[in-house]
Amino acid sequence: MLDETDYKSLRENMVDCQIKARGINGEKVLKAMREIPRHLFIPEQQRSYAYEDFPVPIGEGQTISQPHIVALMTEMLQLKGHEKVLEIGTGSGYQSAILSKIAKEVYTVEKIEYLALKAEKIFKILGYNNIKVKIGDGTEGWSEHAPYDGIIITAGSPKIPEPLIEQISEDGRLVIPIGDAFSQDLTVAQKIKGKLTKRIICGCIFVPLIGKHAWEK
Ligand code: SAM
Repeated sequence: MLDETDYKSLRENMVDCQIKARGINGEKVLKAMREIPRHLFIPEQQRSYAYEDFPVPIGEGQTISQPHIVALMTEMLQLKGHEKVLEIGTGSGYQSAILSKIAKEVYTVEKIEYLALKAEKIFKILGYNNIKVKIGDGTEGWSEHAPYDGIIITAGSPKIPEPLIEQISEDGRLVIPIGDAFSQDLTVAQKIKGKLTKRIICGCIFVPLIGKHAWEK
């Protein structure tokens, strides 16, 4: 049975060996990953894997992403601290928690009610008060709070959902895995003079983004 001291040392090791060693040096991202108790976002039976270098099941056929991909996607948003960010695919809530330490406001949408409520509960326990959760189809975005300085989609999509293109601010960045059901290209897009400029960062494998403006099922 691991205790908080064990988890802290596993967390330090995760940041040094999986994140920094792979070239991610953004201080805010590293600090957030050293601070957030990732194991609390993972079901108890799986907690011993919380700081391992792979995705872990969180129930409902979904996963918490590999720590390195969370760090990489966060880094791609180039957040300074004053931003409003939208996440699609709350899952365990861990990515939202990382964002909440770096951005001013975080809005996150999850289609599976059980996961959304569980994440909301842990945000409350940990006092992450700048995160708002919505249950629904994230491919529609969350128009009430738009525009967003950053949008992060943590599920694989055949394309960038159109409503999200509208909801990104001028100069804002959007990070999304684009591809088929089996593999995707992690893509970062920036809106410049109303148009998106895209860049592929690396290959990745995510569970599918299922909704009106992505995969049908
Ligand atoms: N960001 C999560 C974390 O930190 O644990 C990992 C997300 S998991 C890889 C992908 C999540 O996207 C799943 O929880 C899934 O239910 C959700 N999802 C898939 N399609 C969605 C949609 N249209 N709207 C909202 N959430 C969606």
